[in-house]
Amino acid sequence: MHTQVIIIGAGPTGLMAACQLARFNVEFIIIDTKPAPTHESRAMLVTARSMEIYQQMGLADTVLQQGQVIGKFAIYMNGREKATLETTNAGNGLTDFPNLQAFEQFKNEELLYEQLKATGRDVLWRTSLVSFEQHDDHVVASLYDKSDPFSKISIKASYLLACDGSSSLVRQQLELNFEGGTYQNKFFVADVKLSWLQPANKLIASLSRVNFCAFFPMYGNGNYRILGTLPKGFEGKENVSFDDLKDVITANIKLPLNVEKLNWFSVYKLHHRCVNRFRINRCFLLGDAAHIHSPAGGQGMNTGLQDAHNLAWKLALVLQGVADDKLINTYHDERYPFAQWLMKFTDKIFAFMTSCNWFLYQLRTYVMPNILRLVLSTQWISKRIFRILSQIWYSYRKSRLSLQFIKQKLKFSAGDRCPYVMTAIDGKLQSIYHLLMEPKFHLLCIGSIGYDSLIPVHLINYIKVVNLPLNESWQKLGVQSGLYLLIRPDNYIGLLSDEISPGLISGYFDTFKGK
Ligand SMILES: Cc1cc2nc3c(=O)[nH]c(=O)nc-3n(C[C@H](O)[C@H](O)[C@H](O)COP(=O)(O)OP(=O)(O)OC[C@H]3O[C@@H](n4cnc5c(N)ncnc54)[C@H](O)[C@@H]3O)c2cc1C
Repeated sequence: MHTQVIIIGAGPTGLMAACQLARFNVEFIIIDTKPAPTHESRAMLVTARSMEIYQQMGLADTVLQQGQVIGKFAIYMNGREKATLETTNAGNGLTDFPNLQAFEQFKNEELLYEQLKATGRDVLWRTSLVSFEQHDDHVVASLYDKSDPFSKISIKASYLLACDGSSSLVRQQLELNFEGGTYQNKFFVADVKLSWLQPANKLIASLSRVNFCAFFPMYGNGNYRILGTLPKGFEGKENVSFDDLKDVITANIKLPLNVEKLNWFSVYKLHHRCVNRFRINRCFLLGDAAHIHSPAGGQGMNTGLQDAHNLAWKLALVLQGVADDKLINTYHDERYPFAQWLMKFTDKIFAFMTSCNWFLYQLRTYVMPNILRLVLSTQWISKRIFRILSQIWYSYRKSRLSLQFIKQKLKFSAGDRCPYVMTAIDGKLQSIYHLLMEPKFHLLCIGSIGYDSLIPVHLINYIKVVNLPLNESWQKLGVQSGLYLLIRPDNYIGLLSDEISPGLISGYFDTFKGK
């Protein structure tokens, strides 16, 4: 068999890669050892940045309908509520998705899988990668189909995407170091149906001398994810069950609660590791295959989704002959620094929340709630925290795909996520993200009329011209006169310029050719 891209693994990262490649009409085969998408809830939160990707794919409304908005974040210490923060609409004015959105991993996988099937493609389930070979201009993957033990399938592809999770076989066969470590503590997750007197949209982080526990509300009355550290005494024990931990959980939160049903329970060790190259010749590592970290901040699954979104359009341009293979090196250049930052960020939060160190315990018990109450009631700080947790802050300013030629003093730069600006669309005030839905570049002409004749003939199918008035929203960002933004297919600013011409656009695309 022959295809353009083979995707190993149909978890959230692999399914997102498949859906994105389908948007760009790239041929691919996606395989997974499992018989079907996971039924485990696993990752809980979908960040605003991931929601923006879902919006571009026409899927955001389903998440909003079937997810649970977290409207309050409370910190409990030894059973006492120390601080409660309103989180509803915390990101107003920054994104179309200003809330903390819970939507379990299995629902994300189902959503993406349905989207994939709607394009007429499917996953080859029960099919495992056994080995692969890399050649100058292709890879050959050897697969094993569980339903036919004598089968040996060989697939030739231009590129291989390793979306095969934290134990990635591809990573092992590439002999890449998965540098980092394993946290000392063990953790448990339990998805339960609870009856208690807490509001359905309240996330509770509960700290005590016994352990750390968090209660995440999920969709459906009384449904919660309880996540916590295993207390001393349980660490070396085999086969810890939820019943073993019930008393620990009650002793921690010290609130009357009744667990009506246990839906899922797991105990595991957490790691923080990252490979130092996301591309090895014709193979790319994405999601957990490339980086794993603590669940602090709910960033894991989201980062995999965004890896896939970053890589897919670049692969498409290369396979369609618009760009050289060098364009896809920018996948590593852009995503690796983010993974590095994320590891450090989640490490710090995690160490702070779970450390047994006396000083840190005193700090988080007696000082942190007051500081949190103070800083989060300050609007600019809470907005800043929202930007970080929602992953909308991240920018590719240092990427060689970010070019700017401007004299105006703007509050944004090439490489940033497209500015969040409101404009009248079909007589209704909406964000310009509603105009960035097509799988192509968008040339935003602000305060001047742009025509298709601006687009070099050979790029006419790859760029859409969008004219926008220079309204107050742009003026607040420093735009004073005509401005042009060439927005990449993943909605980051590629080119930013006071003037535009076919030559400038051609020149920008030449950067994809390594000139
Ligand atoms: C118990 C638990 C709780 C978690 N909680 C959270 C959380 O609260 N927040 C958070 O952000 N993250 C959480 N995570 C992490 C989150 O689940 C991962 O970040 C996310 O699943 C990564 O997606 P992925 O697609 O990269 O990898 P995976 O979801 O691991 O998918 C990899 C896929 O590859 C397939 N595969 C592997 N090897 C092969 C092969 N050789 N051939 C074919 N297919 C193969 C596997 O079957 C699997 O379907 C949790 C994880 C676990 C295990």
